[in-house]
Amino acid sequence: MNIETIKTRLAGGELDARAVAERALGAAEELNETLGAFLQIDRAGALARAGELDADRGASPARALNSVPVAVKDNICVRGLQASSGSAILRDYYPPYNATVIERLRAAGTIILGKTNCDEFAMGSSNENSAYGPVRNPWDTKRVPGGSSGGSAAAVAARIVPIALGSDTGGSVRQPASLCGIVGVKPTYGRVSRYGLAAFGSSLDQIGVFATNTTDAALALSVIAGRDPRDATTADVAVPDYVSQLTGEMQGARIGVPRELFGEGLDADVRASVLAAIETYRALGAEVVDVELPHAKYAIAVYYIIATAEASSNLARYDGVRYGCRAEESRTLREMYRRTREEGFGVEVKRRIMLGTYVLSSGYYDAYYLKAQKVRALLKQDFARAFERCDAIITPTTPTTAFLLGEKTDDPLAMYLNDVYTVTANLAGIPGISVPCGLSQTNLPIGMQLLGAHWSESTLFRFAHAYERAQPFDARPSVMAKGEA
Ligand code: GLN
Repeated sequence: MNIETIKTRLAGGELDARAVAERALGAAEELNETLGAFLQIDRAGALARAGELDADRGASPARALNSVPVAVKDNICVRGLQASSGSAILRDYYPPYNATVIERLRAAGTIILGKTNCDEFAMGSSNENSAYGPVRNPWDTKRVPGGSSGGSAAAVAARIVPIALGSDTGGSVRQPASLCGIVGVKPTYGRVSRYGLAAFGSSLDQIGVFATNTTDAALALSVIAGRDPRDATTADVAVPDYVSQLTGEMQGARIGVPRELFGEGLDADVRASVLAAIETYRALGAEVVDVELPHAKYAIAVYYIIATAEASSNLARYDGVRYGCRAEESRTLREMYRRTREEGFGVEVKRRIMLGTYVLSSGYYDAYYLKAQKVRALLKQDFARAFERCDAIITPTTPTTAFLLGEKTDDPLAMYLNDVYTVTANLAGIPGISVPCGLSQTNLPIGMQLLGAHWSESTLFRFAHAYERAQPFDARPSVMAKGEA
């Protein structure tokens, strides 16, 4: 059920909040063995919350997301639920507070269903780096759902919940959305509060939304967006009513195509689908213009320097003293730190802490970190120039469709290359959305990405919605909640 259906059925008295919660809980419990999407399913909490909403029938219907079940990535704090961030080091961490996005979702009437599996500290592109096992793609359970917010993407794709939260540092909402055939939005840096999100790369991280369609995604973002006094990086920029902008109107719109991103390494089916989407836009009345992003070719290198540098600093707080687990029986303080981190972190996290420490070390700082920051500034300029010529840029979201579990785990570089189209938005701080745009010959979903200038989420939603109306994506995954077609 999408949000509209839930609202209609509640209004018609066919359902109450409890029935909605029961249905979502049942699907989550039934499919979790197959998909591994949830690390915690909060049956008691969800039913109690549904009871509250049913008891408050007078006020509830006015709420934007009344009785909508939501799944939350495990690196976002929900009071009383676990927040492991996919890591063994936070195995026993139960935050005593809610992230700002959770407070806002609750005020809008949602039911938090549970916490979703993810790559450890959101580091990964396949959801194979979770300390609690991988997530599987609902379209083909031998394949990855994408990462790092793979559990949230799988939960929405399998129609367990209509919307879910993820975090996107270099593509972790858009990339799994693409591989799972759903919509995923990464807002402008500063649009959504990061208070209560476990930090990975603080200058890159944004909380984003998954949904089965652009209307639900727009609705969810309008609820969580906006200035938060608890996060000084949130901007005091008014939040538009994103849903009211979904007019389908494309006359006079300009879509930019960075041709150099459609070359080497791009799967033929993905290329064909995105090129077809460009033609759809042309047919809808948009003007298609060529744009150049000359520094995009350095984006992966720049991202993996900056993201690891920031991660190495952010992860220093997991020392066995303040959060989570502590290694037993150490004789000295240093030994306790060392053993806690040795036992608590997985290989990919360790790799990044070492890489990040290296690029920040004296002697290498100028050559790597400082250089990367300079190229980041140039990339930002590339986008600023491109957006003088167009309202949104279109690219593939990922170079390929979902790959097999284990296919890239031995080759970190091959894994990092999945992020080639998504990391640019985080480096520049701009918003991006991934929208399903077809199926491959092997029946796997393909996503296209729209990127816009800072604070242009409305434009991205409008463009995405116009495409969705012209080319509805009706295909459904093989693993799905009962009764959903
Ligand atoms: N795949 C990228 C990485 O591994 C992005 C992750 C993310 O957006 N959290 O860093």
